[in-house]
Amino acid sequence: MHKRGCLQRLKKHGVAAFMQTHVRLDEFDSFRHVKEYLRWMVLDVWQCRWESSELGRVTFAFFPLVPDLPRLDFTWRSTQVLTGHGNFRSHLFRIGKMDEDICRMCDLDESDNPEHRLLRCLASRRSVTF
Ligand SMILES: [Zn+2]
Repeated sequence: MHKRGCLQRLKKHGVAAFMQTHVRLDEFDSFRHVKEYLRWMVLDVWQCRWESSELGRVTFAFFPLVPDLPRLDFTWRSTQVLTGHGNFRSHLFRIGKMDEDICRMCDLDESDNPEHRLLRCLASRRSVTF
């Protein structure tokens, strides 16, 4: 049952099932309190999925905590950096456009991914190009 459906059922019947948990309205001080409880349950499950997923690891490196996920308007460039789906050798290698992902702008012998380019690549400190 979705959170909204759970809240409607709680208002109507005082009890509801949510994420395999039996929720009783009378166990909370207020309806606002139960809404906050359900919100934290969702965030907790989302955080577990975010940490254990094999997908989106570049984005995870920038935003490891779900509540920290920004609600901003992203530009084309910032989306490339935050997702790793940009003009990085790691991405070009992943989609078969390059033979290797190692950065050729510096001598660190690391994969050219957003984290490397922004934080460690000595060459990109002189001029950042994406
Ligand atoms: Zn480099």
